[in-house]
Amino acid sequence: MADIKELLVRSGLRRTGPRMTLLTILQQSATHLSVPELYRRAADIQPTINTSTVYRNVAAMTESGILHSIDYAGEVLFGLDATPHNHLICEQCGLLVEVPANELDPITVHLGGQLDFDPDPAGQVLRGRCRECAQQPAETSGAEAVSLSMIKSRWISISSTRPSRS
Ligand SMILES: [Zn+2]
Ligand SMILES: [Zn+2]
Repeated sequence: MADIKELLVRSGLRRTGPRMTLLTILQQSATHLSVPELYRRAADIQPTINTSTVYRNVAAMTESGILHSIDYAGEVLFGLDATPHNHLICEQCGLLVEVPANELDPITVHLGGQLDFDPDPAGQVLRGRCRECAQQPAETSGAEAVSLSMIKSRWISISSTRPSRS
């Protein structure tokens, strides 16, 4: 388990009550939480805390790299950057799995070498289907297990088209 005091020291942020509370909640939950959920849990521990304090501190800690955010089912969730990791999200059942950052090394090496693209080593989100959902009779055509080669080919097909960004 990462030492959250140590994380704060490294980030250069002051160690304050709300920050320690929020980091402790994230560490103990061992998952990613939304700001409203963080607020709900923080208020149980520290009843005087308010939503704007939670927002402000989550933003500051995200900016300084202690936390990272991911889009999950229409919500923004925040996770602790204790160990570098990427995320696999099952689009069918919502399972969220953290995988060690080096699991994607073959892909990042490929993208760097062949496509001159240097992806962030951590914080990536790969969407697909978990093993359990993949084994269910396919309701939609094309239900299949997410293998490394599939992820790779999806990434490459994504990278070859440039989506219009608003
Ligand atoms: Zn994460
Ligand atoms: Zn699933």
